[in-house]
Amino acid sequence: SGLSLEDLETIRVLGRGTGGVVHLVSHMWTRELYAVKVIPMRIEERERKQIARELKINGRVQNEFVVVCHGVFLENGNISMVLEYMDRGSLADVLRSCRTIPEHLLAVICKQVLEGLLHLHQEIHVIHRDLKPSNLLVNSRGQVKITDFGVSAVLGSSIGQQNTFIGTYIYMSPERVRGGLHSYDSDVWSLGLVLLECALGYFPYVAPAQSEGWRNVYELVDVIERQPPPVAPRDQFSPEFCSFISGCLRKEPTYRISVAELLQHPFLRRYRTYTREHLATFINELVPSSVS
Ligand code: ATP
Ligand code: MG
Repeated sequence: SGLSLEDLETIRVLGRGTGGVVHLVSHMWTRELYAVKVIPMRIEERERKQIARELKINGRVQNEFVVVCHGVFLENGNISMVLEYMDRGSLADVLRSCRTIPEHLLAVICKQVLEGLLHLHQEIHVIHRDLKPSNLLVNSRGQVKITDFGVSAVLGSSIGQQNTFIGTYIYMSPERVRGGLHSYDSDVWSLGLVLLECALGYFPYVAPAQSEGWRNVYELVDVIERQPPPVAPRDQFSPEFCSFISGCLRKEPTYRISVAELLQHPFLRRYRTYTREHLATFINELVPSSVS
């Protein structure tokens, strides 16, 4: 692409993650807005170039359900990724202002995430590995797009220690936390957990009673492995939604419903008359939460 970092003026910080900071920037000449994710690197030059090369895979993705990456730059020991700007932030931001999302709108969100996953899986053959509310971005047109795919795979080794941060584990499938083989089905598990969290208004796994939250990753991993998978309560949600969730949250990966099948699921059919416009109206009426 013809983009260069010098032509981008920083407007403000959009958010922070464990790996780096995301800035809103404006292009000096075109006035186009972008989000720039800056990831500090403390590794050798050679390795860094390899990582940048792999991140550029993102640049080859052209799909309306996946956040576009306009370029990857190396400067001053940082990797900067110029991303499509999503003006309503992430699903995590949305959840902070509305707590729960009604089922009919979850269907609109879910449909788009499934389309994005189908593309990642079938067209570019990548497993996302880190599907969670903060990696699903939304805009004021009601569009939902997947971001940060493959980034965890590429940066996993170099981020090292920070990976013990519990936030990167909680959406992982049982086979993944066990450290075993994981495949496309692992993303289906994470999707199920994300949707259930959006419906309930809280993360579906609860820390053992008497302890205040999760003490460490191993405690959570233990619970994911031992407990039956979480379910959507039948008295609060439609049978179609409950069945969709249990189709995603099967501990045995080969029993999970595939992305292609989920796109035909009765849950999506039930709410098929709802569109991105309905989601846009909902999202645009939210008052942004002050905590960010
Ligand atoms: P973690 O680092 O644990 O994965 P994270 O996904 O929240 O957490 P980042 O990917 O660095 O961390 O993103 C931080 C925040 O920046 C997001 O929660 C979102 O609010 C915002 N953000 C990221 N990318 C964009 C984008 N393309 N457009 C608009 N906002 C974005
Ligand atoms: Mg992210």
